[in-house]
Amino acid sequence: MNRQKTILIIEDEKDISRILRDYLTKNKFEAAIAGNGKDGLHMMELLQPDYIILDIMLPDIDGIDLCREIREKSNVPILILSARGSDTDKVLGLGFGADDYMTKPFSLSELLARINAHFRRYESMAVAQQDPDSLSLGNLVIDKKAYKVTVDGKEAALSAKEFELLYHLASHKNQVFSKTQLLDAVWGYESYGDENSVTVYIRRLREKIEADPSHPAYLKTVWGVGYKFSLD
Ligand code: CA
Repeated sequence: MNRQKTILIIEDEKDISRILRDYLTKNKFEAAIAGNGKDGLHMMELLQPDYIILDIMLPDIDGIDLCREIREKSNVPILILSARGSDTDKVLGLGFGADDYMTKPFSLSELLARINAHFRRYESMAVAQQDPDSLSLGNLVIDKKAYKVTVDGKEAALSAKEFELLYHLASHKNQVFSKTQLLDAVWGYESYGDENSVTVYIRRLREKIEADPSHPAYLKTVWGVGYKFSLD
């Protein structure tokens, strides 16, 4: 999870690239240097870096063109370094797929703060997007890895589709789904749009997980719309 992130520095001024590399290495990153655009592209494909610091003035290729070229191959975040301080360059840089921009001379600690902020944002997004393996809701535990549901610690025997329907609803707590949306999400394109099967599955699920299936505590009907999983 916390593997070291690799940062590729594409910069021809050796003083700057070495200071950057040492500073990043000291701050728990792996850092590699490419001294021109051609090496930069090559190393990008070789190292698959997690982040690129790109100088705009390179001996062999314009940094903006290189930025565009990298962007065609990869979504890796790119921070552009430039000695030119004008706003035009700033807009131009961001328009060609760069994620951030700093003007030389820059502060190492500010650069590090920006890189760290990027990875924090990225990681919190990755966590939010990940489906949880196990959901614990009320007296239900829904274990996605084992395809197993327990009610008050006792296993409920669900079919695979029943499980998937329950997991879909429970992992989007309080969100209302129409029968069509549930068909799409759980049965996908193999289904022939028979919304009645959703009704049947919901009824079966209620019989298996609800203490009183006619007054469900979890799988609620939203009249005229569809269903939601809610503890309210
Ligand atoms: Ca340069």
